[in-house]
Amino acid sequence: MIIHTIKELRELVKGWRKEGLSVGLVPTMGALHAGHRSLIEKSVSKCDKTVVSVFVNPIQFCPGEDLDKYPRTLNADEQLVSDAGADVVFAPSPKEMYGEGHILSNDFLTYVIPPYFYVDKLCGKSRVGHFDGVCTVVNKLFNIVQPDFAFFGEKDRQQLIILKKMVKDLNIPVEIIACPIVREESGLALSSRNKYLSDEQKKDALVLSKILFNIKACYNKGITNVSELVETAYAFLNSNHSLEYLEFRDCENLEEKKVADSDTIVFIALKVGNVRLIDNIKLS
Ligand code: AMP
Repeated sequence: MIIHTIKELRELVKGWRKEGLSVGLVPTMGALHAGHRSLIEKSVSKCDKTVVSVFVNPIQFCPGEDLDKYPRTLNADEQLVSDAGADVVFAPSPKEMYGEGHILSNDFLTYVIPPYFYVDKLCGKSRVGHFDGVCTVVNKLFNIVQPDFAFFGEKDRQQLIILKKMVKDLNIPVEIIACPIVREESGLALSSRNKYLSDEQKKDALVLSKILFNIKACYNKGITNVSELVETAYAFLNSNHSLEYLEFRDCENLEEKKVADSDTIVFIALKVGNVRLIDNIKLS
C-alpha cells in the first residue's frame, strides 16, 4: 500500500495505536536495495507495524548535487517493501512535506540544526547544510509517524551518530536501531548511487572496502598508530580515485583518534569519476 499524504498516514497509524500495536519507521530516499531491505526486515521482526518512507528530500541536497537525477523507482520500491513484510510506503511529494515555500527559499522553513562539532567534519565539510536537511526531515517524519523504533544503516555512520544525538538532545520518544552495512560479495557497500557507476567504475569502487578491510587487518595485527594505518591506504589508490577523506574518529562523538582503539570508526569518502562514494568500518 502506498500513502502520499500526511493526513492519511496519521489516520492509519492512529488506528494501529488504538489497537495497542508498536510501530517501526524506516526512512529512505527510495531506489531500494538489499541494504534497505535489511532495515525493513529488522523493523518487521521487532515491531507490529512498519512504515517505510520513500522521499528524495530536496533540502538535504547541496547546490550542484544529484537531486534531479537521483534514481526514482517507486513501483519497484513498493514491491520490495511488501515482499519484506512491511505495511505501508509513505511517499509524500516535496510540496506535501514542505509546502510551496522551500522551492523559493529556505528562509520559509524551520530547521533542526545539529551541533557544529558533528557537522564540520567528514561529509559535512563538503556537503554544507546536508545534515540540517537530514535532521529536519527525520524530525518531521518522527512527528508524522511517532514511531516506537526507527531504523538507520551504519552505511551512513555520521548521519546515524548525528540522529542519535538529535533524539537525545531533543528528548524525542523514539529508539534508534543501528543496522549493519550490507555489502556485495565483492565488498562494495550497497548504495542507490552505485547505479551511477559503469562496470569499469564499479571495479574502481572496490578500493573503499579494500582500504577499510586492510586497515582493520593491520589493526588486528597490532598496529594502532593512525598515521601508520592511513599510510597503508595509498597502495590501493590510483589516478581513477579522488580521495576526499580517510579519517579515524570516535564511534559516539566523532572526536579524532590519533591512536586507534575498539571505539574507532574508520571513515572514507572518495570519487570515482563524478560519483562520490562513502564507506566506514568499526575497529573491534
Ligand atoms: P538512503 O535511501 O540512501 O537515504 O538510505 C536509507 C537508509 O538505508 C539509511 O539509514 C542508510 O544508512 C541505509 N542504508 C543504505 N545503504 C545501506 C547498506 N548498504 N547497508 C545498510 N544500510 C544501508
